[in-house]
Amino acid sequence: MLNFRNTSIAIILLLLLSWITGMSWYVFVIILFIYSLLLFWGSYRVDSQFYLTTINNGRPGKKQIALSFDDGPAISCTAAILDVLKQKTAPAAFFCIGKNIPGNELLLERIHSEGHIIGNHSYSHHPLFDLYAASRMEQDLLQMNSEVKRVIGVVPCFFRPPYGVTNPNLAKAVKNTRMKAIGWNIRSMDTVSRNEEKLFRQLIRSLQPGAIILFHDTVTATLNILPAFIEEIRRKGFEIVRLDQLINEKPYE
Ligand SMILES: [Zn+2]
Repeated sequence: MLNFRNTSIAIILLLLLSWITGMSWYVFVIILFIYSLLLFWGSYRVDSQFYLTTINNGRPGKKQIALSFDDGPAISCTAAILDVLKQKTAPAAFFCIGKNIPGNELLLERIHSEGHIIGNHSYSHHPLFDLYAASRMEQDLLQMNSEVKRVIGVVPCFFRPPYGVTNPNLAKAVKNTRMKAIGWNIRSMDTVSRNEEKLFRQLIRSLQPGAIILFHDTVTATLNILPAFIEEIRRKGFEIVRLDQLINEKPYE
C-alpha cells in the first residue's frame, strides 16, 4: 500500500541501490523529485490514505449521501443554512472551528438541537496549522473539543483536517486524540466558484451513492443553491442521511 512509511523505505532502498551500482547524480535527483511529488500528493489529497486513514465516503451500494459544512459557526450564513435544512428536513454535519464558537454559542446549540452533528475542524484553523508540531496540533484539536463540550456537553469524535491537508504530525495528533479523520469525495468548490449555476450543475453531475459532500456555511453561493440542490438530489432518488449514519460511526464520545 502506498503510504508514507512504505514509500520512504522504498525510496531509501532505491537511493542505496543507485549508490552501490554507481548511478549518475541525476538518477538521485529523479528519485528525490518523485519522492517530493508523492509527499505533496499525499498531503493535498485528503483521500490518499498516505499519512493517515480518512473516511471519505459511505457504502457505494446505497443511494445515500451526506451533506457537510465546514468553517462555521458563522454569522454570515449558518443560521440561514439551518433554516433551509429545517424546511427541507435534511440532516447535515457541521465541522466547526473552535475559535468561532465564543459569541456564537446559540448557533452551535441550534445546530445540535435541530438534529445535526458537530465535528472538529480544529480550534485555530490557522494558515500555518500544517506546520505545527504534533503536540501543538493535538492541543489545538483538544481545545476545540473542550469548546463543544462547554456549550453542548458532548465531545466530537469526527475530525476534518483544516484545508484538507494531512502530514505525519497530524496523523500522530489524530491518533492521540482517538478521533476519526473525515474527508469527502465531492468537493463543491463553493468558496472559489463565481458562478452559482455552474456550481450547481457540477455538483449534480458528480453525485454518486455514498458521497460525502463538502460545503462551507460561510459562503452565500452555498446558501443560494442549497434548496434546489436538495430537491434535485431527492428527485434523482438519493436519500440524504446524516454523516454518522452514512459511515456507521458514532459522532460523539
Ligand atoms: Zn476549513
